[in-house]
Amino acid sequence: MSFNDLAAALEARRQENLYRQRRVLESAQGPEVSVDGKRYLAFCSNDYLGLANHPEVIAALKQGADTYGVGGGASHLVNGHSQAHHALEEELAAFTGRERVLLFSTGYMANIGAINALIDKQGAVFQDRLNHASLLDAGLLSGARFQRYLHNDPDSLAQRLSRPEARRKLVVTDGVFSMDGDIANLPELSRVTRENDGWLMVDDAHGFGCLGATGAGCVEHFGLSNEDVPVLIGTLGKGFGTSGAFVAGSEVLIETLIQFARTYIYTTSMSPAVAQATRASLKLVQAEVWRRDKLAQLIQRFRHGCEQLGYELMDSPTPIQPIMIGDAGEAMRISAALEARGIFISAIRPPTVPAGSSRLRVTLSAAHSEEQVDRLLEALDVVRSGGAA
Ligand SMILES: *Cc1c(COP(=O)(O)O)cnc(C)c1O
Repeated sequence: MSFNDLAAALEARRQENLYRQRRVLESAQGPEVSVDGKRYLAFCSNDYLGLANHPEVIAALKQGADTYGVGGGASHLVNGHSQAHHALEEELAAFTGRERVLLFSTGYMANIGAINALIDKQGAVFQDRLNHASLLDAGLLSGARFQRYLHNDPDSLAQRLSRPEARRKLVVTDGVFSMDGDIANLPELSRVTRENDGWLMVDDAHGFGCLGATGAGCVEHFGLSNEDVPVLIGTLGKGFGTSGAFVAGSEVLIETLIQFARTYIYTTSMSPAVAQATRASLKLVQAEVWRRDKLAQLIQRFRHGCEQLGYELMDSPTPIQPIMIGDAGEAMRISAALEARGIFISAIRPPTVPAGSSRLRVTLSAAHSEEQVDRLLEALDVVRSGGAA
């Protein structure tokens, strides 16, 4: 057997302008980064609050390593569950207003683990068609009857929920949609789900830290209870600036995951030093309201500027502000033209987004300045009028 087949598939990807390449970052995350030997002003990280390189978070990581070491050493159920993990779980439970929280090593694993612990072949899973890949993969893996409803459309969900009986019905949605930036209509989605005896699971990877008065995400933004959203997922690698993820919910939910979530049971615990670092970032998320206020100002400034330039934005009130381009090749051209002007924004293409909806996924951070947003707008003006590269 040869690898010719694989090489042909790679070549086809290249022909379609869908080939992906990694860039090597030589600096910490921040508005200015060093990539492949050059300095750029970056607008594509998920470090929305500017905590990934915060001195207090770094100090906590060092202190955590001094106390607990670097490696988790074992799974949580053997002897890898440290005091740092335990304290972080308790603090996140208080933060989210849920009875308990369970840490996972990544958001991808939290989603695979939670969905598969809750439903199986006898169940049905209902997903927004623009949900994150990890949610879709988790649903398929479960073997449950799998249905997608129209994007952020409670009526479309209600139609699907009212059909044949399943033992358990799990409705799954992003809280903030990762590639579009819009917020799920959770009050209506939860109403429809409860009326049909389902459970609503919300993956708020992009809402935690950014939405709600204390940064507790879209459930705080809408004032929703544990009964409205019984399964709440947060990730720690975005607004929190560290890494890992958690599920928040009732005592029964968390005990179920400890017993049945395979991606919790059969994997090494996250680094306890990272758990300590995350405790520091949680304090900053809650206390430093100015980070959310600053983001709101930058979002408004950017949207206003883009409208004046005639760019098509999406209906997003969050730090995810994609500029819709459409064609993958054109998205690549604009990304390259911006790069030539010292601005780093990667083009997002299929299969991450639907065919024909390639975009520049601009993300803003509380660490950006107004002047930096203005520099982005100036560059967008030049590349649009063809003065590119
Ligand atoms: C990033 C993301 C994940 C995955 O989280 P990781 O911790 O990076 O694995 C899951 N869900 C959504 C909506 C995401 O945007």
